[in-house]
Amino acid sequence: MRAINRPNLDIQIVYEACINSITDDDLYTRLQSIMTNIIQSSSDYGNKALISLLYTIPPNHCENDAIALGNVTKKELRAVYSSHFVPATKPARIYYDQLISLAPLGKCPYCGVGYASTLDHYLPKNKFPQLSVTPLNLIPSCKDCNTGKKTSFPTTFRAQSLHPYFDHDNFIEDQWLYANVIETTPAIIDYCVIPPSHWNEDDKARVHTHFNDFDLKLKYSIEASNQIAVLRDSLLYAWDSNGFVGVRQQLMLDALAYYLKHPNSWQTAMYQALAQSNWYCNGGFR
Ligand SMILES: [Zn+2]
Repeated sequence: MRAINRPNLDIQIVYEACINSITDDDLYTRLQSIMTNIIQSSSDYGNKALISLLYTIPPNHCENDAIALGNVTKKELRAVYSSHFVPATKPARIYYDQLISLAPLGKCPYCGVGYASTLDHYLPKNKFPQLSVTPLNLIPSCKDCNTGKKTSFPTTFRAQSLHPYFDHDNFIEDQWLYANVIETTPAIIDYCVIPPSHWNEDDKARVHTHFNDFDLKLKYSIEASNQIAVLRDSLLYAWDSNGFVGVRQQLMLDALAYYLKHPNSWQTAMYQALAQSNWYCNGGFR
C-alpha cells in the first residue's frame, strides 16, 4: 500500500460542478435540495475515516429505482458520478483528473503494481450513493484493484482494507510483507503477511484483509516471476566474479535499495527472500 496525501477538494464545489451540467430542471432541483445532506455525509466520512470507523456507516440496500435520499433515487445519485463527473466533456471532469493525478508516480496505491487509470469508491456507490462524488471516498487505482476487490464493503473494523488517504505511519513504515522462495526451476516467490509482533491485533488483521482483498499474493508472485527471468543473466556475472558471496551481495544491495523506498513492495520482499536462500544463491538462479 502506498500513502497519498488527502485531496484538498471541497465536496460542495465538486457536487455543484456535477449537478450544474444537468439540463433536466426537475432533476437539478431535487439534487440541489439534498446538497446539505451530501455535505454532511462527506464530513461524517472524513471524521470516521480518521479513526478507522468507516465500517460503521450504514449501507443503503434499497433498489436502484427506489428513493435513496430526499426525493432522489439511488440510480440518479449514482449517475451524478457516472454521467456528470467521469465523462471527459463535463466541467466536473477536472476534479476527476485531479484525483487520478494523486497516484504516486502514476501507480495504484492499493497494490503498487498497476497503473492508476480509474477512481475506486472505497465505500461503493451502489451501497453508499450519498458518497458517489465525495473526494475522500475516491481513490486513484488500477482496474484490477477497482473491479477485483473481494469484499465489496467492510462490515467490521478488521475487514477494512487499508485506506491510502488515512492509513499511514506504521502501515507504511513497518515491514509486514514477506516472501519465501520455492525451490523450483525457475524459482517461484510465495508472498505472505507477517505483521510486527508489537502491533495491535486490529492492525494485524487489517493488513491481512488488504493482502487478501486485492489478491496481492497472486499479483506479486506474477511480478516476481517476470523479474526472476531477467535476474538470471545479471546474477551469472556476479557468480563468475565472486560465486555464492557475489550473488548474495548483489541481492542484498537490491533488497536494501527497495526497502528504503517501500518496505512493503513486492520487490523488497522478493530480494530479501532470494538473498536469504542458500539454494538460490548457490546456483538456484540458473
Ligand atoms: Zn492496484
